[in-house]
Amino acid sequence: MSQKQPVITIDGASGTGKGVVSQLVAKQLGWQLLDSGALYRVLALAAQKHGVALDNEPSLAILAEHLDVQFVATETGMPPEVLLESEDVTDVIRTEKMGNAASKVSVFPSVRQALLSRQRTFQEPPGLVADGRDMGTVVFPDAELKIFLIASPEERAERRYNQLKEKGINVNLSDLIQELYERDKRDQERPVAPLKPADDAICIDTDHLTIEEVVGAILSEWRRYGAT
Ligand code: C5P
Repeated sequence: MSQKQPVITIDGASGTGKGVVSQLVAKQLGWQLLDSGALYRVLALAAQKHGVALDNEPSLAILAEHLDVQFVATETGMPPEVLLESEDVTDVIRTEKMGNAASKVSVFPSVRQALLSRQRTFQEPPGLVADGRDMGTVVFPDAELKIFLIASPEERAERRYNQLKEKGINVNLSDLIQELYERDKRDQERPVAPLKPADDAICIDTDHLTIEEVVGAILSEWRRYGAT
């Protein structure tokens, strides 16, 4: 690819609405979408499948390097199907258990390094919306627009609870709050690529905004960028 494609990064903690907001922004612009969290979730699942312990950094890095994962586009703008070794794992990776396992494997520098170039291959025409924790700080530091979504812990737990309930996944709200707290702490305190806004990111507090309002705010930032 000789010409660089534009990138909008959308980072934030779990439950900030990042996933759905990123999907909608990508759909509106007709751009590619990278759900980087899904990669870490698939890696955690692959580790489980192949009997690799979640603290075995060297084996996890090898697994990450050779991870046979595919994102199969469905309807435009709908989340893609996720295949691990040709098996449909789209729903399996969405549980809280897998989110937690993902956060454990993602602390290791060699694992993150192994997934870096794979994430950058998503930068294809006509542009990319990249959803994650370190999209603006590490993976796409030159992105044209960097967004960091914020929401209070109570709001995030409640959103996550409703999201999982809608999918028929049973969770206890207080367990969820505790798990979110532990996951946030691990994501924020890890030495490599911790969850934090890039210096040039625009932070949006989503607590009192609807999904559509957040999407609208990001699109108007993008239009403003285009006008400069
Ligand atoms: O976004 P999602 O909840 O799917 O991410 C699952 C976990 O993967 C996060 O808690 C985080 O530990 C890890 N992750 C990461 N870097 C990213 C995306 C996700 O470390 N860019």
